[in-house]
Amino acid sequence: MSQALPSIGHWIDGQNVTGGVRSQDVFNPATGQAEKTVLLADKATVQAAIASAEKAYPTWRATPPLKRARVMSNLKTLLEQHSEKICSLITAEHGKVAGDALGEVQRGIENVEYASYVTELLKGEHSRNVGPGIDSWSELQALGVTAGITPFNFPAMVPLWMWPMAVACGNTFVLKPSERDPSSALYIAQLAVEAGLPPGVLNVVNGDKEAVDTLLDDRRVQALSFVGSTPIAEYIYSRGCAAGKRVQALGGAKNHAVVMPDADIDNAVSALMGAAYGSCGERCMAIPLVVAVGDKTAHAVVAGLKEAIQKMKVGAGTDGRNDMGPLVTKQHFEKVKGYVDQGVKEGATLVVDGRGLKVAGYENGFFLGACLFDHVKPEMVIYREEIFGPVLGVVRVKTLEEAMHLINEHEYGNGTCIFTRDGEAARYFSDHILVGMVGVNVPLPVPVAYHSFGGWKRSLFGDLHGYGPDAVRFYTKRKTITQRWPSAGVREGAIFSFPSTK
Ligand code: NAD
Repeated sequence: MSQALPSIGHWIDGQNVTGGVRSQDVFNPATGQAEKTVLLADKATVQAAIASAEKAYPTWRATPPLKRARVMSNLKTLLEQHSEKICSLITAEHGKVAGDALGEVQRGIENVEYASYVTELLKGEHSRNVGPGIDSWSELQALGVTAGITPFNFPAMVPLWMWPMAVACGNTFVLKPSERDPSSALYIAQLAVEAGLPPGVLNVVNGDKEAVDTLLDDRRVQALSFVGSTPIAEYIYSRGCAAGKRVQALGGAKNHAVVMPDADIDNAVSALMGAAYGSCGERCMAIPLVVAVGDKTAHAVVAGLKEAIQKMKVGAGTDGRNDMGPLVTKQHFEKVKGYVDQGVKEGATLVVDGRGLKVAGYENGFFLGACLFDHVKPEMVIYREEIFGPVLGVVRVKTLEEAMHLINEHEYGNGTCIFTRDGEAARYFSDHILVGMVGVNVPLPVPVAYHSFGGWKRSLFGDLHGYGPDAVRFYTKRKTITQRWPSAGVREGAIFSFPSTK
């Protein structure tokens, strides 16, 4: 049956190509039906993409940065014009509701916009007369062939965190999107050619571990950006570094929101609803844990959330009235549901149980209703592990110190936030919390495109964060040049001591 489905291939050297004998079904999560298949690139196909990127590199590197920047400006316009089409591809394969897909595309466009300022970002530093008649300057040079491996949950945005800045800096790129929802990244790569990107500067290979391992091991790939789960991030980082590459690998998360007794509870509850259940909880900046300071606070938060959940609309992402769509695949649905079962077994109080949800007309879809646990304890699996679904747990503590101790002891450190009216508490929290991205009365503190994105602890392997100014550093190498043009007739003898400015 799957042979009759439309097949998604690869984008190499500015052409749609097939490659690899293995393939995988791509599902519409709302209907539960396989609607397409995606080819899984074999080693030879990935090597062809790398070869194309290598061939395109010398000319692209020599292209004036302003011309490269203009391609990004053109791409921004094209992405705006075609955003509806991109959103429909996202919803059809990921399942997220249309408004959320549009938010993702808009955030992606902002990264393209930032990459269009690359002429400003690539300016080096210059010092005249560092010694008699000697000038010195540094410049940021491209690396060569670079690569990116991206997760399913932001199929359009996360690729746009990577390749626009990489190519704007003069590199060429091979992208390996998630095999679960590959179409939007592929479509955007084709728009990039329309925007003026020469063939081979950006190549897209679809695939799985075989494709990834080929990118990791190939000596021509100079740097690799990864976003996905922590076990794979750690694998990518260690294998990529061992192969001598520059690697940044962004991993999983378990973000805590602290609610203080003085917080505006209505406001906090509204913010938590979106942060916990938006995109079905499939965001690395989602809030799956609330740490309520004091029983009175916990009681008010749980009551508020319970009431708000009853008003939530869950259904197909194509219906603009829905707040939350399905989970991405049947396997992921089973995994998340398994965590809810586990939480019940571990003794947490299941205040709202979304496991029985059926959406009329979409009975085979991967829908799980919002779930809410109270009395979650730090030793429970549902506290420790990333669930990546619409499951929110409330942990009760007595003090801010206790809340911060929990967060600081957790293996992940991607995002966190605090709801309070107390500026001193917020400042102390922001200063001492061991987490990379912090919100104060802001539930999803995802940095804008001109700042950089990254967690701490096991949420990021590598030194530089994703996108923003750190991406310019990641996709370039600094070179420092010191130059002298001796005047005619002036000759110095050999100097054996180390030159310095006395
Ligand atoms: P994943 O780790 O399963 O897959 C990510 C990528 O790695 C995909 O392209 C996949 O094909 C590839 N991959 C999977 N298994 C592999 C293997 N064994 N060897 C080599 N490559 C492999 O992640 P996912 O399920 O697609 O995405 C969800 C995860 O991503 C969550 O953990 C989420 O927190 C994380 N995430 C993190 C960030 C961040 O910025 N920190 C952003 C988005 C998502």
